[in-house]
Amino acid sequence: MKFNTKTIHGKQSPDPAYGAVMPPIYQTTTYAQSTPGGHKGFEYSRSSNPTRQALENALASIENGEFGLAFGSGLAAIDAVMKLLKPGDEVISTSDLYGGSYRLFTSIFEGFGIKFHFVNMGEPSTIEQYINAKTKLIWVETPTNPMLNIIDVKAAVAIAKKHKVLLAVDNTFATPYLQQPLELGADIVMHSATKYLGGHSDVVMGALVVKDQALAKQLYFIQNACGAICGPQDAFLVLRGIKTLHIRMQRHCENGKAVAEYLAAHPKVESVYWPGFETHPNHPIAKEQMTGFGGMLSFTTKGNNYKEAIKTVERFKLFTLAESLGGVESLAGHPASMTHASIPKADREKTGVVDSLIRLSVGIEDIEDLIKDLKQALG
Ligand SMILES: *Cc1c(COP(=O)(O)O)cnc(C)c1O
Repeated sequence: MKFNTKTIHGKQSPDPAYGAVMPPIYQTTTYAQSTPGGHKGFEYSRSSNPTRQALENALASIENGEFGLAFGSGLAAIDAVMKLLKPGDEVISTSDLYGGSYRLFTSIFEGFGIKFHFVNMGEPSTIEQYINAKTKLIWVETPTNPMLNIIDVKAAVAIAKKHKVLLAVDNTFATPYLQQPLELGADIVMHSATKYLGGHSDVVMGALVVKDQALAKQLYFIQNACGAICGPQDAFLVLRGIKTLHIRMQRHCENGKAVAEYLAAHPKVESVYWPGFETHPNHPIAKEQMTGFGGMLSFTTKGNNYKEAIKTVERFKLFTLAESLGGVESLAGHPASMTHASIPKADREKTGVVDSLIRLSVGIEDIEDLIKDLKQALG
């Protein structure tokens, strides 16, 4: 089965009760038993729920995995992965990763005795310098936020396999439409399903997908033992979102390209960070491991003026100034005053988050309207 068909039919079948084509929202905590242990596969909804199971099957299918697990948020999914580890274990992580992941690693798991090395993975061989007998996990996020750097997943996998270390990929930005980390050899794929998988800015959810049964068992044990599951209503919404993932992503990519090209030609724009440009330093890897370049991009303006950048994002009429990404509507953000405001100026500027940087999540509206909005906002 090919990808577009999988989003709609992959590991899916009509509901066994009445043949409902979409699974009902099984808003129930428990399931009647005829005799102790005599149930129809479901006992208690933390352990499993039919609506969540339908979603977890779909997640496994679109990522070319065997087992899917859905959580209450993207961070809850990452939390479950980290609970595979024990005090004394070490993790090598992408350095310019999602701020919430960084906070979880440093403010929670470092306190539990896990050591993190934050490494610029632009040159994957750098990873190897940090591997020792205590290394248990390599955490890769690509493309990165907000600079849209691309990490060579295959090269990182080769290092992980050589040293028998697990490798996980945060695939939130790319989605399986553009990039399938399990196919590239990763052990775990993670999603903030809040973003493109849900796709409509109405659900907070996380997901994990794996191929290996023993690893799936461990993660399922954690999911049930720690209990950070999603509810059935949210599972229904994300399952519905997945069914249009491919057509949404197609349009996100088309609009992302058009916006990137418009901005690159604009006299007030200094730089545009979008992996589809041949001038992007990681373009060759992006081209190899991704089937498109997505709808996320960042840009800076000439003069690098903080106040002017704030004015620009305030002037947007169609792009909504907001956190988050991956929904059908276009969003804009100013990392220096929003997501990265807590990072000292000198530190954030080292990674490219300068005062005038604006990040766009390009939605699926008519491109003419989006360009018109950018034109008036840039003045
Ligand atoms: C949003 C996001 C997360 C966290 O997911 P939540 O659903 O907000 O908990 C993790 N990684 C990336 C890349 C994200 O964009």
